[in-house]
Amino acid sequence: MKHRHSMKVIGWTGLKSITRRCVCGHEVSRPMTKREIWARKKADLSDEVESQRQNRVCHEFDRTFRVLENRPVTIGGKKVKSLVDTGWKYEGYEFMSRVRKWAKKYPNDVYICGIDDAHFASSDIVFILHRPSPKRIWGTTVIVITQCDGKPPKEFFMYPGHASGILETLQEIGKLKSRFP
Ligand SMILES: [Zn+2]
Repeated sequence: MKHRHSMKVIGWTGLKSITRRCVCGHEVSRPMTKREIWARKKADLSDEVESQRQNRVCHEFDRTFRVLENRPVTIGGKKVKSLVDTGWKYEGYEFMSRVRKWAKKYPNDVYICGIDDAHFASSDIVFILHRPSPKRIWGTTVIVITQCDGKPPKEFFMYPGHASGILETLQEIGKLKSRFP
């Protein structure tokens, strides 16, 4: 059908060319203008700032509690040195105590709940929020630190959708009566 193309930007090749496409599939690439390059650089910068902000607390957690080693890794066929997470500096009770102390600095970003490990020893589940702004969340890093089972801490990541699913389940469980009044 004959129509007037309605071109929308669909991508960039580095800072060189810009590609626009119409819903009909008609596509045009052309070199970026100085102004577009400037706008693109600015957008990249603000993405970088947002990423730094939302991962700030987690990055500090990493630096404080993970063993990070500079190791050679292969990226795109090239050997480069990169910081690799090779384990935890602490585990069990010592880790729990250190994290509780550290978490006091971040009352709005780090939450700790009590659980028991397989030996019924008090243990912690630590939630570290990735928040780009006070009212928004990107996801949550969760670390389970058991006290007495000799197993290393285990971590997982939740997007808000995962958190909602877990929350629904916990609410169902929470409605049940305890055997012990
Ligand atoms: Zn078109």
